[in-house]
Amino acid sequence: MQLTAADFKAMFRKISARIEGERNHLCELDGHIGDADHGIAMEQGFGAIVKALDTLAVDAATPTDVFNTAAKSFLNAVGASSGPLYATAFLRAGAAYKGKDALTLEEAASMIEAMARGIEERGKAELGDKTMIDAWKPAAIAVAQAREAAKPVTEALSAARKAAEDGAEATKAMVASKGRSSRLGERSLGHVDPGAASAAIIVAEICEFLDR
Ligand code: ADP
Ligand code: MG
Repeated sequence: MQLTAADFKAMFRKISARIEGERNHLCELDGHIGDADHGIAMEQGFGAIVKALDTLAVDAATPTDVFNTAAKSFLNAVGASSGPLYATAFLRAGAAYKGKDALTLEEAASMIEAMARGIEERGKAELGDKTMIDAWKPAAIAVAQAREAAKPVTEALSAARKAAEDGAEATKAMVASKGRSSRLGERSLGHVDPGAASAAIIVAEICEFLDR
């Protein structure tokens, strides 16, 4: 199976629809340790991506074009700190696929690694800082490990999804040391990080989309 620009457009639609449904929950999480806007930021960002992709001629576009369009529209739509983080994530995925008209499922799964690297480079957060990295990085490691062990992609995808969900849940027991919530110090304990929660949702949607 080969994935084209049209497929990635469909993937962004799927992520956007799910994020829309989770908006209030994500705002609520951000309300405990941040400024309660995370659901709105993510909804606006993915909404802007879908709108921009609707005007892209996908038949003549590459997967890189789709990711670059996503990066630009997300950055323009989102003023919160998740804006540049996801814009960089999408740019890294776009760069990884440069020159390709279509991708194998294996190549597409590596999107999770490229995105995690982009967020890490941009935000400089490490595991345990109670950020979206605590969901993205374990997911990326799961994809890499499955590939190194020559496991089928479907196993890589289900491992990535579980790793992101477990990683997000684990942020409850962490003290925030990056971003807005770091101002709370110990008071950030006991709450799931909103960015990690949305990251687990995005990873799950990507994995579900690819594993069909
Ligand atoms: P803001 O904090 O500007 O309101 P959002 O509410 O959209 O932005 O996003 C907050 C989330 O951003 C946090 O829950 C955290 O996961 C993530 N975040 C903040 N700073 C960083 C960073 N330096 N690296 C990775 N993720 C970060
Ligand atoms: Mg916020």
